[in-house]
Amino acid sequence: MSFQAPKGTFDWLPPTSEQVLAVREALVAPVRRAGYGYIETPVFEDTQLFARGVGESTDIVSKEMYTFPDKAGRSLTLRPENTASVLRAVLQHGLHNGRLPVKLWYSGSQFRYERAQKGRYRHFWQVGAEALGAEDPALDAELVVLGVQGFAALGLTRVRLLLNSLGDRACRPAYRAALQEFLRGLDLDADTRARIEINPLRVLDDKRPEVQAQLTGAPLVVDHLCAACKAYHEEVRSLLTASGVAFEDDPRLVRGLDYYTRTTFEFVHDGLGSQSAVGGGGRYDGLSEMLGGPPLPSVGWALGVDRTYLAMEAEGLLAGDTAARLQVYGVALGDDARRRMFLLVDELRRAGVNTDMAFGGKGLKGAMKGAGRSGARFALILGERDLAAQAVQLKDLTTAEQTEVPLAQVVDVLKGKVQ
Ligand code: ATP
Ligand code: MG
Repeated sequence: MSFQAPKGTFDWLPPTSEQVLAVREALVAPVRRAGYGYIETPVFEDTQLFARGVGESTDIVSKEMYTFPDKAGRSLTLRPENTASVLRAVLQHGLHNGRLPVKLWYSGSQFRYERAQKGRYRHFWQVGAEALGAEDPALDAELVVLGVQGFAALGLTRVRLLLNSLGDRACRPAYRAALQEFLRGLDLDADTRARIEINPLRVLDDKRPEVQAQLTGAPLVVDHLCAACKAYHEEVRSLLTASGVAFEDDPRLVRGLDYYTRTTFEFVHDGLGSQSAVGGGGRYDGLSEMLGGPPLPSVGWALGVDRTYLAMEAEGLLAGDTAARLQVYGVALGDDARRRMFLLVDELRRAGVNTDMAFGGKGLKGAMKGAGRSGARFALILGERDLAAQAVQLKDLTTAEQTEVPLAQVVDVLKGKVQ
């Protein structure tokens, strides 16, 4: 019997997996420099955390969650996103009672039961950053700038930034009502009509062309912002402009829930077809209260690692091999020489030289073939006769030049050569 990875999941294998690691690291390097601290939360949480923190009416909660009872009958859910967990952890440990904003970043697997296709998986990887407990347009701008820097550090040039404001508790209700009135007049299916009543902003996000065609005259939130929201948004925009960050105002960009407020943004890449979003984020001033906490105005983003990798592929940026390259490969013949080689390899690694050796009792020919394939520059060959002479043969695999080096000196000699 042979097994396959479950539908919508896949394995990252070398050397590609090394490139994915590099993508992940590059995306979070800017926030780490900006004082964001690493947080790791459980892969599963109380189902209610997501029901409330993501929202019952969202596709994520209504269709896409991996929910299961544990053996004690608790309902648990594999996290579909990480913001709710981060906020849960902040509230649970009282981090918000210290210096604000609390700045955190994470990196981890997310799970959504989605229609699996290229760029849309059931198990995927996000990195994210959250700044909790401050209402300041500079903080929104900071996060956007740091996201832009992450993509730029990878060499991506076709990531576009879309920006909008969703208003706040003062101005959103009137906008929501105006939008509902407009939407009720359209020719829509029953599901979408139901959505108008619970989550009307999400209708603007409907990807179907027949729905989009009817939305041309829909009222836009920008035309309904109160003075405070307008001023806040203008400040975010002007800070981004001053930082040299290009953005496009997208008055249709929404998040469906009431606790998302003001700044909302998305990073899209044009080389990815319909799975174009490589990241998204915004302000969620009302979420803490939704989870039973105090008011804690916050802003954050999540970037899709798998999709960013696909964007790199689309831009032809994956040529370089980022794996920690082997520098030395040991080949030993005979049991005593093997034991000595095992220790020598260990010594080389401790000295910072990337080293591997032939395993599995191959003969000289097979072991030398392994050396050639390993990508190492040098082979160390140790036979019984070398061992008796306390020496080892050092072969430069690029020139085939071979020299004898005393065993006692070989670590120093190699350290000098690979530096
Ligand atoms: P989409 O509109 O593509 O479904 P989303 O709005 O659901 O995206 P978010 O919840 O904001 O996405 O997640 C942030 C990022 O995580 C997305 O921009 C995307 O890059 C990535 N992402 C989301 N869902 C998936 C998935 N199923 N497979 C791979 N990456 C994903
Ligand atoms: Mg989605």
